[in-house]
Amino acid sequence: MSMETVIRKSLFYRTGIGGEGTYAATHVTGCSHGCRFPCYAFLMMQRFGKVASYEEWCRPRLVANALQLAQKELPHLRGKAHSIHLSFATDPFMFGQPEVVQLTLELMRLINSFDIPVHVLTKGVISEEALALSRRNVFGITLVSLDDGFRTRYEPGTAPYLERVMGLWRAHDRGLRTFVNMEPYPTPNIWQQDVVRILDAVDFADELRLGRLNYNDAVRQCPGWRAFYLATGETARQFCKHHHIAYEGIGAETETRHRRKEPDDADGLFGERPSYS
Ligand code: SF4
Repeated sequence: MSMETVIRKSLFYRTGIGGEGTYAATHVTGCSHGCRFPCYAFLMMQRFGKVASYEEWCRPRLVANALQLAQKELPHLRGKAHSIHLSFATDPFMFGQPEVVQLTLELMRLINSFDIPVHVLTKGVISEEALALSRRNVFGITLVSLDDGFRTRYEPGTAPYLERVMGLWRAHDRGLRTFVNMEPYPTPNIWQQDVVRILDAVDFADELRLGRLNYNDAVRQCPGWRAFYLATGETARQFCKHHHIAYEGIGAETETRHRRKEPDDADGLFGERPSYS
């Protein structure tokens, strides 16, 4: 059975994250990864009445007119967009969802044809086909644990960690720029683990960012949670320095916070208002 679809009015939107000239797109509504950190995009979609339940969020729907919108909007972004991020509100390489991966690949090809690089972030497996596109594309994974027990409890639909890391390794092996997003990193009352083990698994990456877990009351119930994050940030910073990895996030020399300004409505979150003109 083929995936359900939705129709959008626009696709690309300017984002405050990543600096001037950074745009993003959400070409799928919902995400079968079903993260329970919780997922910020799900919280917003639920708040604005766009999805009724967690179960509905976990049934992804393709934006049926994504490629037509891209064809229309990309000429306006040529020379203006430094990169386009896929995605803040869904996963472009959603695990076990070939239709999502196919649409992502088509969208990447189209964006690259306008000489705009794509910045990809996934908790799935980076497609081999994506690695053959523009060499200016940048590939990232989110990785906050290596314990399968954590994955099944907090990010149940995502790719197993080994497959996820191997996907990033293949991008690195092809000489492409890679990054690791260690966010939202859990406090020890949520999950006990050694951050160095996780850092060791991705010591080949070019960039790494460590960030705290937001929107979860359990963090503040952890005794000494602030000190924990400072110490973990320092460990990550030192590790990255030693391995020549660019480090951002907690404890970085110029710490940037990625906590987003909350949108006024779901349109603000998913770019329903054109922001390319
Ligand atoms: S992968 Fe991202 S968009 Fe998908 S459920 Fe998890 S946090 Fe949300």
